[in-house]
Amino acid sequence: MQADKDLIIIGGGAAGLSAAQYAARANLRVMVIEEMAAGGQCLIIGDLENYPGFPEPINGGEFAQLLEEQAKNFGAEFLITTASSIKKNDDLFTVETSKGSYTSYAVIISTGAKHRHLDIPGEKEFSGRGVSYCATCDGPFFKNKKMLVVGGGDAACDEASFLANLTDQVIMVHRRDRFRAQKSLADRVQHNPHIDVRFNTELQEIKGDMKVNGVRLLNNKTGETYEEEMDAVFIFVGSIPQTSLVPDLPKDPAGYIITDQNMETEVEGLYAAGDVRSTPFRQLVVAAGEGAVATHCASQRIDAIKGHAYV
Ligand code: NAP
Repeated sequence: MQADKDLIIIGGGAAGLSAAQYAARANLRVMVIEEMAAGGQCLIIGDLENYPGFPEPINGGEFAQLLEEQAKNFGAEFLITTASSIKKNDDLFTVETSKGSYTSYAVIISTGAKHRHLDIPGEKEFSGRGVSYCATCDGPFFKNKKMLVVGGGDAACDEASFLANLTDQVIMVHRRDRFRAQKSLADRVQHNPHIDVRFNTELQEIKGDMKVNGVRLLNNKTGETYEEEMDAVFIFVGSIPQTSLVPDLPKDPAGYIITDQNMETEVEGLYAAGDVRSTPFRQLVVAAGEGAVATHCASQRIDAIKGHAYV
């Protein structure tokens, strides 16, 4: 039986768009299924400055558009909808979506990861009213205001540096006594006169009326808690891989999908690439590379199946 598509890619971030470009260029019939706008995490990056080949920073949204345009130029098809399940029967996958079901010889899961919440009082209540998970999107609303950044990873450092261009009152709290972030990003934060870094400090509560107006912080070394006026709270405490489509696949302890070096999961023909995959370094360039590898390996499988069936 001929499949509707050679390859279906679920998720249109850097991994999915790169996979789509490689597939379309190799003349595969490829469809990218994306819930919203393509671009994934690129869309929340202000200045992208570490993607090879861009000596000047490029806006993450613009970069995403270039990736999408390139994939489309080679013939990739995009379907904006939600995929609800993936099933395999012999060599054929069936992907159910809210716009119908589609079959393919291979599937790449590049659904990425979403931001983790702190689950503290006030977080949900004031989300969108001073609590944010995207400095690029919401920072400009709080120009010259007092902003709190929570987290100690690359994202927190990156975003704190971005916010420090908008105000000289950025407070950055991290629960441990050192950053997890890459040294270059951490150094930039620690040397920024607009950022007040407080280690061993936890955000316990976000206060406000109609919008955020304060926070309660804990110094976990001394046990002291204190309240402080605050206009906005930006939370960057890591991410949760989006794996609900593949509940039964093996995952690492943090929940990321385990693949072999071909990006193939335990299910033959089912690949994972990008932030949803277990990998030591989550970067755009890595995601794009993984997308290319996944497509390359998927195309070998697709050729073999089509060869057996039709030649
Ligand atoms: P991350 O590296 O997992 O860091 C999460 C941070 O949040 C850690 O400092 C962690 O503290 C803290 N945290 C986690 N749960 C917490 C909680 N309940 N309360 C308080 N703090 C909590 O996540 P990320 O910074 O979002 O980065 C995700 C991936 O994207 C990484 O692989 C990163 O390299 C990549 N990335 C790269 C760039 C760049 O290169 N420019 C920018 C953004 C993201 P501990 O340190 O104590 O665990």
